[in-house]
Amino acid sequence: MRDRSLLAAAIMIAVVAFLIVRVMRAPITHPAGEGVVQTASLSSDEFGLDTQALEIRDEMVSRNQTFSDLLTPHKVDYQRIVELASSGKDVFDVRRLKAQRPYHVYLDSMGVAKYMVYEQNRTSYVVFDLGDNPSIRLEEREVAKVVRSVSGIISSSLFMTLDDLGEHPALSISMSDVFAWQIDFSRLQKGDSFRIVFEEHYVGDERVQVGDILAARFIHRDEDYFAFNFVEGDVNEHYDEVGNSLRKAFLIAPVEYKRISSGFSGRRFHPVQKRYKAHLGTDYAADRGTPIQATGDGVVTHATYGKYNGNYVKMKHNGTYTTQYLHMSKIKTGIRPGVRVKQGQTIGFVGSTGLATGNHVCYRFWKNGQQVDHRREKIPSIGPVPTQFRTQFELLRDSYLVELSLPIQSEPTPAYPVLKDHAAIAAP
Ligand SMILES: [Zn+2]
Repeated sequence: MRDRSLLAAAIMIAVVAFLIVRVMRAPITHPAGEGVVQTASLSSDEFGLDTQALEIRDEMVSRNQTFSDLLTPHKVDYQRIVELASSGKDVFDVRRLKAQRPYHVYLDSMGVAKYMVYEQNRTSYVVFDLGDNPSIRLEEREVAKVVRSVSGIISSSLFMTLDDLGEHPALSISMSDVFAWQIDFSRLQKGDSFRIVFEEHYVGDERVQVGDILAARFIHRDEDYFAFNFVEGDVNEHYDEVGNSLRKAFLIAPVEYKRISSGFSGRRFHPVQKRYKAHLGTDYAADRGTPIQATGDGVVTHATYGKYNGNYVKMKHNGTYTTQYLHMSKIKTGIRPGVRVKQGQTIGFVGSTGLATGNHVCYRFWKNGQQVDHRREKIPSIGPVPTQFRTQFELLRDSYLVELSLPIQSEPTPAYPVLKDHAAIAAP
């Protein structure tokens, strides 16, 4: 009993510490909402224009509408429009107006346009001042970064689960990037669960983008996977709880080879088939019987004999990468479909079975279903947290671990909890 209350107290202290650290790390600013704008100036709107005595028409650019089409109905002289478009060309070329983008016309009591604002995208807009000194200026909206957390339990896919929770679709993509080497997101299990601490970018109260995943925990088949985004100096990586990078490099070659007997090419003369044929692999010549290693952690999908491939093994590493090893003299005992292998593990031995002239491994590499030259791929080789940053990393990790260790609820988390809390504080 006493232990329990001590534990509860410890958790409380940790939670408070975590919140303090989080606030210090990433101050949660209120997205530029009504409250903020009103204190700045009572009569200026979200575009910083003084709207006193002006009537505002909110419109949408339609197909094939030109700049002058937008302004001539509002008593702006055609010559004036042409001059403005030409003098302000370096700021904004009016031929870049896009259909289906909003624009706003500010009319005086005579119905004459004084300003026009064109919303070029969700974060920037163009102000056309049609007054005595006509001008065009490009403005950026204030983008507020908000730190949020979300947790959930997988019912079908991560995408669907996050969608049900009202999250931005990009969040599931970011998650599969972060855990690409650890978790095959196409094979999640019902009941897998997660908690994610991440950044979101807001303009006003509109969510425009998902930022970085700051920390995450994914429980897959009852196994815990953690990610902590550590940024320091040149380092910007996601590490696991012991400080190893989540990104893993491939071994550059599956064997200790003597020479590359044939490189990857779209077209080559095949010595056995006596015709030109693409060679979508790299041939590593080595002595018969030399062990062949898996170039990365993965799951065996094929381990069999084929007329052309001879004895071969194919494996899937993650949602992105697949590799294949051909012409083995022998597949290693125990290597069969469904078996999980570690990087560097022996999966077979060099030979010349199938369509091969000499002892070699034909190594094939797929990225997103496309065969690519693995020697041209930029595959990162990332070490653990640099020693000099170890203490900082551990502090960061421990602060996030408090939140990541909270029990994961089966009911959806309320939408935008951080925003809501903050709005409550900001309200008068
Ligand atoms: Zn080959």
